[in-house]
Amino acid sequence: MADGLRLSREALAAPFVGKVEELSGQNLSACYQCGKCAAGCLFTEHMDALPNQVLRRVQLGDESVLAASAPWACASCLACAVRCPKGVDVARVMEALRLLALRRGLPHLDPRATAGVPQIALVGAYRKLTP
Ligand code: SF4
Ligand code: SF4
Repeated sequence: MADGLRLSREALAAPFVGKVEELSGQNLSACYQCGKCAAGCLFTEHMDALPNQVLRRVQLGDESVLAASAPWACASCLACAVRCPKGVDVARVMEALRLLALRRGLPHLDPRATAGVPQIALVGAYRKLTP
């Protein structure tokens, strides 16, 4: 995470945050970092940031999160969504981040480098809503 980022009304009003909210249909300011999403995620060992950390980075307007591997390791299993006490569907946020990364031409899932990636994540990658 970049230094100097602070959670504030201004950060939450950043265009990047609005774009992720628009694409995901989620209210990102609802997340209060309880960590239940990360606690229930079976794929965190393959992620470079926990699901709640991904949420926080988006809340902070930290666009470097688009280069994270976490959204690509997300299998869209929805375990986080059913656990979230605030009704945040993290899977949809991950989806929005994948979509934005693709739109910006950032590195994403490389089929040649999928050794060790959970099978369900690969299946998920191809059935995800990402065009
Ligand atoms: S479970 Fe919901 S409120 Fe808790 S950290 Fe995850 S997204 Fe945020
Ligand atoms: S949808 Fe993604 S982030 Fe949520 S629990 Fe499943 S793999 Fe983890």
